[in-house]
Amino acid sequence: MIPPRGACLAHPASAYPHAMLSDLFSALGLSGHPRLTAPGDAQGTVTVFNPTTGAPIAGVRLDDADSYERTVASSAAAFKAWREVPAPVRGQVVRAIGDEFRRHKDALGDLVSLEVGKIRSEGRGEVQETIDIADFAVGLSRQLYGLTMPSERANHSMKEQWLPLGPVGVISAFNFPNAVWAWNAMLAAVCGDTTIWKPSLLAPLTAIASNAIADRVASSMGHPGVFSLVIGTDDVVGERLIADPRVPLISATGSTRMGRRVGQVLAQRFGRALLELGGNNAAIVHHDADLAMAVPAIVFSAVGTAGQRCTTTRRLIVHERIADDVCTRLVAAYKTIRIGDPLADATLVGPLINARAVDAFLHAVESARSQGGTVLVGGQRARVSGLSGHFVEPAIIRCDRPIPVSCEETFAPILYVFTYSDIQHAIELNNQVPQGLSSAVFTDSLRVAEAFLSPSGSGSDCGIANVNAGTSGAEIGGAFGGEKETGGGRESGSDSWKVYMRRQTSTINWGTQVRLAQGIRFD
Ligand code: NAD
Repeated sequence: MIPPRGACLAHPASAYPHAMLSDLFSALGLSGHPRLTAPGDAQGTVTVFNPTTGAPIAGVRLDDADSYERTVASSAAAFKAWREVPAPVRGQVVRAIGDEFRRHKDALGDLVSLEVGKIRSEGRGEVQETIDIADFAVGLSRQLYGLTMPSERANHSMKEQWLPLGPVGVISAFNFPNAVWAWNAMLAAVCGDTTIWKPSLLAPLTAIASNAIADRVASSMGHPGVFSLVIGTDDVVGERLIADPRVPLISATGSTRMGRRVGQVLAQRFGRALLELGGNNAAIVHHDADLAMAVPAIVFSAVGTAGQRCTTTRRLIVHERIADDVCTRLVAAYKTIRIGDPLADATLVGPLINARAVDAFLHAVESARSQGGTVLVGGQRARVSGLSGHFVEPAIIRCDRPIPVSCEETFAPILYVFTYSDIQHAIELNNQVPQGLSSAVFTDSLRVAEAFLSPSGSGSDCGIANVNAGTSGAEIGGAFGGEKETGGGRESGSDSWKVYMRRQTSTINWGTQVRLAQGIRFD
């Protein structure tokens, strides 16, 4: 049960002055929002902390079993009306939503920075992804193409059409608190589905603001209930959502541990799962690579979002002839990285999300040392004057060969460096981890690039394989996702929309006789 409105804002102790925070909340419609309350440990609430300062920002009221039930029932009812709206008209609603995100891009981007610590340009860049996927979805609303096929029977025709699926459950991770929802929700909307979003409890404010924008626009155009939100613990809300037979598709983004659970529950009820899970991404640097281009690309991929992207470069596989040079250049670049307040213009690396993430970072660095790795730079807590948030110094760790900790995804800025002499060995190292999300090769050699992308499948085994571009920073136009323990799902561009629809094949007899396929006679 969501209690009535109340006070909500705490002073997040610098990094964002209180007056500006009030402006931000009112620009995003969060002031006096019924979901928000004062920070504290009141039952049925969660406190959101600013990772830059460690100070509370606001309290958020959680859903319980009753409010969950009401939300899903109303989403299921809204689906029945929404699917009757012609797809191009649904596209017009999504177009208006995209425009509203354009208007709120800066404020919402700053809220992302405040809540999860992304630097300003990445926070706003995340909202830009939402605008981009909305544009993509508008075009798609006129292109939900089916096929017609020739029938083997005289006077028969066959066709395939794509139909709305139902309410879609979207579970999002803390590190993309706006765009991951939009990748799903904008496509689902033009496909005729409603969305029930369950965000991370580490980033519910961006979710409340984002869902409110979409819901406000859709409601004002006569379509309430298309976008809804449930916020709660994994026990009370998460588990209910994944087990709910009214929700035919769950799109879940997060750790492999979470995906394993979600996949099992969905398999039991024959639900559809779109899983976007952890990555352990590598970049190969061949001896002929243009290092003036490769080094900055690797630095952004390794330390952008403080190493908290699923596509972060975590392993560097460098040709032995240039390994010392590459390490020297990277260490020099790391030493110039400005760590600090994500909303300050000069900052390149903000904080990790919480103290647990810092502990995981320090523990991984220690494990690497004990497993034979040498820390070339970073690897400790970073002190930032005036801020008591969760800052670390991004680490580069050189290893003779892969070590156990380098096969795990530590969600923090640690780059393990290995060497190779033969490109096939480099590709084996790329593929030698349980995850299969993103990968890259830096080379000027056509042979090396094509071996990495080999159409036989003997190259990179990841869902994303780039040439002379880093592992992170995907555009919305391509299908996004990965193999193996990354879950196998694809979302965003290309033909990812098909997962939000059900396919129906029809045979139409326009003749006067019953004809059976395969020449079967039954008379
Ligand atoms: P997490 O697994 O802790 O949580 C992700 C989401 O799953 C949260 O909303 C959480 O509440 C929910 N959840 C957890 N258990 C659940 C359950 N039993 N039932 C229903 N929901 C449940 O992940 P995180 O720490 O928020 O995010 C970091 C992880 O996400 C990393 O592993 C990262 O690689 C991954 N990630 C993957 C992608 C991708 O597209 N492949 C994108 C972003 C993040």
